Amino acid sequence: MSSEKLQLIPLGGLGEFGMNCLAMRYQDDIIVIDAGLMFPESELLGVDIVVPDITYLVENRDKVRAIVLTHGHEDHIGGLPWILSELNVPVYGTEFTLAYVENKLEEHGLLDDAELIDLVPGRRTTLGAFSILPIRVTHSLVDCVALAIHTPVGVVLHTGDFKVDLTPVDGEGFDLMAFAELGKQGVLALLQDSTNVDRPGYTPSERAVRPRLDEIFSRTKKKLFFSCFSSSIHRIGIALDLAFAHGRKVAMVGRSISESSEIAQDLGYLNVPDGLIVSPGQARDLPPDKVMMLISGTQGEPMSALSRAAVDNHKHARIEPGDTVVLSSRVIPGNEKGIFRMIDHLYRREAKVIYDDGGSGLIHVSGHASQEELRLIINLVKPKYFIPMHGDFRHLRRHIELAEATGIPEKTLLMEDGDVVEMDRDTLRKNGKINAGRVCIDSGSTGDVVEDIVIRDRRHLSEDGIVLPIITINKLSGRVERQPEIVTRGFVAGEADIMEQAREVVARTLDGSSAEEKADYGVIKEKIRTDLKRYIQKNTSRRPLIMPVILEV
Ligand SMILES: [Zn+2]
Ligand SMILES: [Zn+2]
Repeated sequence: MSSEKLQLIPLGGLGEFGMNCLAMRYQDDIIVIDAGLMFPESELLGVDIVVPDITYLVENRDKVRAIVLTHGHEDHIGGLPWILSELNVPVYGTEFTLAYVENKLEEHGLLDDAELIDLVPGRRTTLGAFSILPIRVTHSLVDCVALAIHTPVGVVLHTGDFKVDLTPVDGEGFDLMAFAELGKQGVLALLQDSTNVDRPGYTPSERAVRPRLDEIFSRTKKKLFFSCFSSSIHRIGIALDLAFAHGRKVAMVGRSISESSEIAQDLGYLNVPDGLIVSPGQARDLPPDKVMMLISGTQGEPMSALSRAAVDNHKHARIEPGDTVVLSSRVIPGNEKGIFRMIDHLYRREAKVIYDDGGSGLIHVSGHASQEELRLIINLVKPKYFIPMHGDFRHLRRHIELAEATGIPEKTLLMEDGDVVEMDRDTLRKNGKINAGRVCIDSGSTGDVVEDIVIRDRRHLSEDGIVLPIITINKLSGRVERQPEIVTRGFVAGEADIMEQAREVVARTLDGSSAEEKADYGVIKEKIRTDLKRYIQKNTSRRPLIMPVILEV
């Protein structure tokens, strides 16, 4: 090992979207920047989340000083429970980021053993050979930072996710001065967010959605359902403001959105007038034009509140003809099918649905910098080396072209997961590879302890086998014909009546589902999978692959 060089070793997030995780090493000190997850593509049946393979960190466990977080999005913190259960090191993050982390670790029973330490923008933290200065940046989430990492070979500036929002909703501006100051002092390497490198111009401010949303609030005569990502605190703030201005009370429906709003409110990121929030039960007794429901599930996730409301199967959120549903979010590639299926159901309820169709005014803006902002930061920072972060290969490639066109960096380098990149004041190059990859996790439906986390690899599949519940549905009537059957391969239930009861579990799930849910195979399969998984795990301690099959007759 070349001992005088700084190494960058990306474990995730380069060449794919999600599970951002970068190790930085100088001699015997390693820090890890971000610890994200990725949601699996639909081909990965039965897998709940995907996290980076951290073998490299585990093999060097005595050198890992800390995990440092740039912000609280899942693609940056979602892998923490998994990583901390393998490698318990201190976690640094800003106040809001750590509040999300606390919630997450609590869910996994890991909070008591975790060491969480506040990062404060403008205040340096020393970790081994590294001295880290967090710098305030703007993004679609609050309390986000870039990290200026002072190392023995020079300063490495990691932007984290950002856009340059000059009119931030929460008044916390992008610290352009700090970037300029670093540029003056000299930056060895800039590591920059590539997500929107395809987009010309500037990304609009978070504030830019307000006029169009205001117009929607003015025109809506009945109930208004407002859905956005639960971490879109700025967006939630704007929606609450508008609800207040238009005389609507707000009910929160869905766990993720209420928890997230509560954290933001506690930490002063949401200003909620007294009496604005009512319980979903109270909202039912109010006139429709006095209610806004803040509801989770913009991506058509089958078990989310909005998906269930869309098929008329939610206790509190009933969508009636003439109601308006606003999806203030983007369609994440890969989720189109689920989202449009949900939108179809909403139209069946005779609701008015407003989603980001590109044609009807801004109801969503991206949180990532477009080309001019990327160029601006390169110009302010004047790095000697440039390395793109956060994107598929084509984003990284195009980002390098963009950086080279500014004429500023002396050298650029395209780094991918598993590369070992070495640098000092005079050189920047790849030197070898480590084992990096994806670990697929089946988190179980109970979400309790980490012992429940199981790696779904082939060995595992061969041990626990496969379970196929077969449901026969009449195409014309939508009714379930005859009792569900369950076929298994390589799965040993143990006691004889387990399979009989499993059949009953499936039958109960079917009974408890509305006709519309049953007609929607995506929804009904997911419900059966969830319920059956819970039952089988509880009663056999096994985790077979469960694949519901629907036969139409
Ligand atoms: Zn982000
Ligand atoms: Zn991200």
